[in-house]
Amino acid sequence: MTYDPNNIFAKILRKDIPAKIVYEDDYCLAFPDINPKSPIHILVIPKGSYTDLYHFSAEASPQEIEGFFRGLAKVAKQFGLSETGFRSIANTGKDGGQEVPHFHVHLLGGRTQSPF
Ligand code: 5GP
Repeated sequence: MTYDPNNIFAKILRKDIPAKIVYEDDYCLAFPDINPKSPIHILVIPKGSYTDLYHFSAEASPQEIEGFFRGLAKVAKQFGLSETGFRSIANTGKDGGQEVPHFHVHLLGGRTQSPF
């Protein structure tokens, strides 16, 4: 899939539209989901232009991959999720039900998640 620079998360990355940014470093940005599915529902996105988990895994540099997941861990710790546990979801493409075509991981916590 070709990356669409006008997707909503690209606009949040460029600060063209507002989001309550809870974490940012050179590799990732994190903000609450606008329609939370759990008491804690944070989206973690890479700063690079990757459409989905497959694209990121296949083409991101080792530094980008490490930076993204180290940032995700910091977000998990910041919200206490490293202690309680959490569910992580990366919907990918059409059959994955992905709505926003910029790779993102949902971190869901604050309660026990329903059986998967
Ligand atoms: P997907 O289905 O692509 O995995 O999830 C996209 C998520 O982005 C949805 O849970 C949706 O609520 C969230 N979302 C869509 N637009 C916005 C927005 O403008 N701001 C924020 N914070 N979240 C958004």
